[in-house]
Amino acid sequence: MTTRFRNARPCGLCQNDLFESVGDRKLTHLCRCATCGLVSVRHFPDPEELRKVYSEDYFKSHDSALMGYDDYARDRYCIMKTAGRRLDTIERYTPARGRLLDVGCALGFFLEEARSRGWEVDGVDISAHAVEYANQQLGIPARCGMLREAGYEADTFDVLTLWDVIEHVTDPVAELTYCRDLLKKRGLLVLSTPDVASLVAKMTGARWMGFKLAEEHLYYFSKRTISLALEKAGFEVLEMTSIGKDVALDFFARRLSIYAGPAAKLLGKGIDVAGLDRAAVYVNPRDILCAVARRLD
Ligand SMILES: [Zn+2]
Repeated sequence: MTTRFRNARPCGLCQNDLFESVGDRKLTHLCRCATCGLVSVRHFPDPEELRKVYSEDYFKSHDSALMGYDDYARDRYCIMKTAGRRLDTIERYTPARGRLLDVGCALGFFLEEARSRGWEVDGVDISAHAVEYANQQLGIPARCGMLREAGYEADTFDVLTLWDVIEHVTDPVAELTYCRDLLKKRGLLVLSTPDVASLVAKMTGARWMGFKLAEEHLYYFSKRTISLALEKAGFEVLEMTSIGKDVALDFFARRLSIYAGPAAKLLGKGIDVAGLDRAAVYVNPRDILCAVARRLD
């Protein structure tokens, strides 16, 4: 039988304090709430540590992508292609477009795609570097800081998007409630987050890409626990799916070669020779969940 223990910090979803151990993932001890099943880190980093994680260097990987023009162009091409797919989903619910706020907007590529489709866009991100890029290079009105620090008015937006954000937040229900208040009546919230209950997560164990160091991902949601969090925050869940990403074909072939040996290497070579390396392929391992929810009034 699994040993249960009490934690000083109650569950972020149901407030109970009885947990069971999940074990160590990427040097981080994880636990599961014995009442609602929400998985989180056992020891939450203090606010000062968290602030350090989200210092200027947080988007270092984006920086390196920016340095080489080819890589940058490839990333942007793929991100915008993925953005198009995600906007297709959003526009099924809100065909009239309107005001859209992307929380954790990074360099602003999702918003760039949204703007080109007629949305009035805003973004907020903790990275000063990312916000400066979105403002100056793309002309996107992005604000720097945590969502609460950004000072948006209540009842303002038709849609809020949070791509891979909610797992980083110390109090997800409070954050989603705050998001709810920024939305207009019947407004839409769309989020993605790694799915800890997915087959890939279960099969790959500690090697799963969704697991990150304690300072980065504080929570690991499933379709069930994120639904509970959204309902607690005053939303009605309309759709729950798994979503993928567009990745460059040459990158995909190289990644594949790690797993599948010579055949994939050959494929990678073929792609380089044929000059198709900017072509993208849509990959969906079904380990990232996407929730579409509507503000309840
Ligand atoms: Zn719980």
